[in-house]
Amino acid sequence: MRPDILNPLFAETQTLDGVGPKLAKPLEKLGLTRVRDFLYHLPERFVTRRAITNLDEAGEGEQVIVALTPTEHRASRNPGRGPFQVLAQDEIGNICAITYFGRASYTGKKQLPVGEKRWVAGRLDRYGDMLQIVHPDHVEETSDANMGRMTEPVYRLSEGLTQPRILSLVEQSLAKAPPLPEWIEPGQFEKEGWPDWEEAVREAHKGPNEAARNRLAYDELLANSLALLLVKADSRRRKGQALKGDGSLRAKLDLPFEMTGAQKRSVSEIEGDMQQEAPMLRLLQGDVGAGKTVVALQAMLIANEAGKQAALLAPTEILARQHYETLRKMAAPTGIEVALLTGRAKGREREGLLMSLMQGDIDILVGTHAIFQDSVAYKDLGLVVIDEQHRFGVAQRLALAGKGRRSPHTLAMTATPIPRSLTLAQYGEMDVSRLDELPPGRQAIETLVFPQGRLDEMIAAVGRHLASGSQAYWVCPMVREASGSFESTDIAAAEARYAQLAEHFGDQVVMVHGQLHPDIKDANMQAFASGKAKLLIATTVIEVGVDVPSATLMVIEQAERFGLAQLHQLRGRVGRGSEKSRCVLLRGDELSETGKKRLTFVKESQDGFYLAEKDLELRGGGELLGTRQSGDAAFRIADLEQVQKLLPAAHADARLLMERDGGLTSKRGEAARILLYLFERDWGVQLLRGG
Ligand code: ADP
Ligand code: MG
Repeated sequence: MRPDILNPLFAETQTLDGVGPKLAKPLEKLGLTRVRDFLYHLPERFVTRRAITNLDEAGEGEQVIVALTPTEHRASRNPGRGPFQVLAQDEIGNICAITYFGRASYTGKKQLPVGEKRWVAGRLDRYGDMLQIVHPDHVEETSDANMGRMTEPVYRLSEGLTQPRILSLVEQSLAKAPPLPEWIEPGQFEKEGWPDWEEAVREAHKGPNEAARNRLAYDELLANSLALLLVKADSRRRKGQALKGDGSLRAKLDLPFEMTGAQKRSVSEIEGDMQQEAPMLRLLQGDVGAGKTVVALQAMLIANEAGKQAALLAPTEILARQHYETLRKMAAPTGIEVALLTGRAKGREREGLLMSLMQGDIDILVGTHAIFQDSVAYKDLGLVVIDEQHRFGVAQRLALAGKGRRSPHTLAMTATPIPRSLTLAQYGEMDVSRLDELPPGRQAIETLVFPQGRLDEMIAAVGRHLASGSQAYWVCPMVREASGSFESTDIAAAEARYAQLAEHFGDQVVMVHGQLHPDIKDANMQAFASGKAKLLIATTVIEVGVDVPSATLMVIEQAERFGLAQLHQLRGRVGRGSEKSRCVLLRGDELSETGKKRLTFVKESQDGFYLAEKDLELRGGGELLGTRQSGDAAFRIADLEQVQKLLPAAHADARLLMERDGGLTSKRGEAARILLYLFERDWGVQLLRGG
């Protein structure tokens, strides 16, 4: 049970002043559902503002507070999609445009009535020959205390949230933060000169404070290491089951290709593990297109041959469905039963499926996290395969998978080439098999960089490509900006591009993005996979794992807005068949140095490991740790640099604690339990009582 001392921190967001059902949704989007979450929603940066009396006093790009009087509202012709502009005047008659995009326009309209003076805080820029403030941080009727604050935290937002709103919620949450017992090993704590927990959270929100942030990052890494060790200790206590396949099912497979040496080697490593009684904990690492799926199938068939069931967990519905189709086709000659379970299965269909699963009529279950819900009971689960592993907290999955009395074997798969420094954090001490060899006959993907300005030529080229009977992807950027509202602008841009391309190519074109209804998304994806649709417009939904070998052209718009690893993943969607494939990176006019480098690297190399290294150099590995924005990050506080710097100590600290007090019953052990709850790694604690 959760220690009582944490109750105030685990109260729902709605217990805070000013949070109703309407705010709950944008908050949830940022992963803010409890009071605790606000404490750990650390500022992205701090701004220091200068109060000025007129616009002449400020330089471009400066953060200012200035009194302005609106003179005119200029709505865009495309209401709701922006931009919406308010022209406003300072004391001496300088004009400035205050600009809003998307739904924020309504806020702007309300907050800046014509003829009434307002205090506006934001970044002053120039747009053409106009001074401009885009999405001001504050608009107030008086220059009250909040406005006068010169150093202010800037938080990541989602649509429907403002800085002052989130600041107020953080402050309320901080007021509820209790002092907590110390879980960090005293020696470490003193050596670093860190503040205690309560002070650390307060300071981290107040201003740039490295010690406070490092302490919180260390907490998170310690919690993670500790949870991994708890899982490991638990799985040592647990018995697995030695599974020996007789090869009968695998012999019936009728693969259209010969497995590569690397694939065969991986299968035999897996087979060796599965023959042991100790549960397998193995990571299969292989670049995009290396052929991990068929290795997974072989592993699952080994379990089936031994009379056990196997489950494959995919990170998204699209991928789960695709795996299901692929596996069903490949496994058809073996006569084994493959089924699909996602969160969307409801009512009788779902019940029927669960019944078959319990009776053992289903041999392989493919699905999203729904396959590990409490209501899902297997007759005899022998193997769990987790695809695109980096999207999940590994240990959590292991804990889930280990629900039964006897632990199933676990095979995790990832296309992300993870540097050594991160393996420990993400995978604990798993064994690794590498697919270091691509299937033969793969042709190099020709990568071209082309100016976005020459879109018409690009569209014509796509037309020729489609006319020749081939398929293509067209990817639009979807980058969430700190100001929050650009998201809808991006969707709008993708929709507009879809409309434009549909005009050229009619119903050969379909689209998928995150905000479409899941059924529509599926149907569109399906149409493309079956070849009925020829051109797929997509945001990065398709980044991971999608496999349509007959698609041989990939167009990526505003490619400079994507990270290296992401571009590599996206490009990996083509070049999957024996046909020559192309990838065109459309670049904007104003490329940053980093943007330019990134495109050059992608153009010149197709080696995932090489690109991952370069990515690490260029942007600190954000993508390897997952994107915080989409909530799939391994860590919410620790960044790559902190992981590299602090993880070894945190891991050693966790080990020491486990050696001395594996049941977490000492004073420090109790504190560590609190820590595990704080970072939602309480599944680690649950294992202490189970067994
Ligand atoms: P990933 O490792 O990215 O998951 P997939 O398992 O989706 O890769 O495989 C990519 C493509 O390569 C699929 O179309 C698959 O059928 C094919 N493939 C896999 N192994 C081989 C092989 N040994 N020879 C030829 N094609 C293969
Ligand atoms: Mg895959």
